[in-house]
Amino acid sequence: MSRTLLGLLTDAMTSRDAPALRTADGARLTYGQLDEESTRLALALVAAGVGVGDRVAYQVDKSAAAVVLHLALLRCGAIQLPLNPDYADAEVDVLLADADPVLVIRSPGHSPPSGPWRSVTMDAHGAGSLRELPSEGSVVLPSVAADDGAALLYTSGTTGRPKGALLSHGNLAANAQTLVEAWHFSPSDVLLHMLPLFHTHGLFVATHCVLTSGASMVLLPAFDVDEVFTALPSCSVVMGVPTHYSRLLSDERLDSLVCDSVRLFVSGSAPMTRAMHAEFTSRTGAQILERYGMTETSMLASNPLVGPRRPGSVGPPLPGVSIRTVDESDQSVGAGQVGDVQVRGPNVFAGYWRRPDLAEESFTADGWFRTGDLGRFDDDGYLELVGRSKDLVITGGLNVYPTDVERVLDLLPGVAESAVVGLPDADFGERVVAVVVASDGTQLEPEALRAAARSQLAGYKVPKEIVVMESLPRNIMGKIEKALLRNQLVDRGA
Ligand code: AMP
Repeated sequence: MSRTLLGLLTDAMTSRDAPALRTADGARLTYGQLDEESTRLALALVAAGVGVGDRVAYQVDKSAAAVVLHLALLRCGAIQLPLNPDYADAEVDVLLADADPVLVIRSPGHSPPSGPWRSVTMDAHGAGSLRELPSEGSVVLPSVAADDGAALLYTSGTTGRPKGALLSHGNLAANAQTLVEAWHFSPSDVLLHMLPLFHTHGLFVATHCVLTSGASMVLLPAFDVDEVFTALPSCSVVMGVPTHYSRLLSDERLDSLVCDSVRLFVSGSAPMTRAMHAEFTSRTGAQILERYGMTETSMLASNPLVGPRRPGSVGPPLPGVSIRTVDESDQSVGAGQVGDVQVRGPNVFAGYWRRPDLAEESFTADGWFRTGDLGRFDDDGYLELVGRSKDLVITGGLNVYPTDVERVLDLLPGVAESAVVGLPDADFGERVVAVVVASDGTQLEPEALRAAARSQLAGYKVPKEIVVMESLPRNIMGKIEKALLRNQLVDRGA
């Protein structure tokens, strides 16, 4: 991987008149305009004193201006800290205190941060006091090295001590090149961008696949089913999380005709059930490509573009990425056996921001990153994830991988989805408890579900209790929040 991220981005910008981006309200930017606007802003930031390695936080609405800001910050060598626009001031303050930024950019709806941070505003059109930064001198863009930090993404939410994953320009360049090749991105592609811009999926995977390959994107301000259906016929690639696909499946407009121009649907950030894969294919004729990645590492594995895609699997490791599954002594386990997933590659971050204390628990002595996921390879080298290791249930000394139970429950008649957790148990240490959500109009009988599960699962894996809920708690990327679910179950006396 010899190309730099800025090199890849600026190469694409040589096609000055080619479309780079359009928004749902009709605004358009060519690569030439993206180049000019991001250079102008980068120069203003440098002139205002932003140097290589300085942190710049931004909490702004998703917009074309936010994409320009992302590029400008890459160009001036700052470490950007994108923040979820939904975070409350108190949550933001915790992250700012950790990142210690030289500048905070917020949309006008937010009040200035309470700490000593220099703060400016930027709205969805790029207007605001960001444009009035006083110039303090030098107006040359710095040279940025592959090892220089590019982004700081916090992974532990806003509770507990912050864990900022520091991704370098080299990490991001490696992943952009790998994905563009693996998924055959080309200038003729149009991506439907419906993901948030503060998370690795939307900010790096989606945006960099487009902007380093000369493709273009339709940038939706947020996921909105009507806007998706309006945009779909002009798009060739869609990236989403399983919740997006489930919302599209609940709409009768989803059929093969509306998806006719789409050559690739990608899903990731959370597991997609086999049932959802099958339903999507039967409705549209298209098979979703599921991939696996995380904030600290960018993308790690992907079902193939050409070749068999396996529902329930995240595919083989991407080219240049090494993945192994290991036992508690960090020794590789064989195909078919569940182990801790560890990864290595030019895409993997070097460590958490100002947290040398986490180095030993995050990396093995020989440099493999411990993902915290559990998985098993099949004989063909496809990886199947079975849950986060912290969500593993150990009951009576036996391991229960939540996914193994959830997959059985999900296929029972009337079950829309399920989540399995371990709750404290005086006898077993932990006991398996399942939460199920009913399909529309179905009345679920927990005891009947347990009986049905018993015929397909070893006794110790059968949930001791099945609780019916209206919905499962999910974060914005569609991940089920199991810690929250455990607390909810304890609170209601399960
Ligand atoms: P994040 O850092 O928010 O991107 O979350 C990364 C985590 O999401 C991974 O460690 C996995 O636990 C989970 N994840 C990502 N993609 C998938 C997938 N396709 N299937 C199951 N889990 C996934």
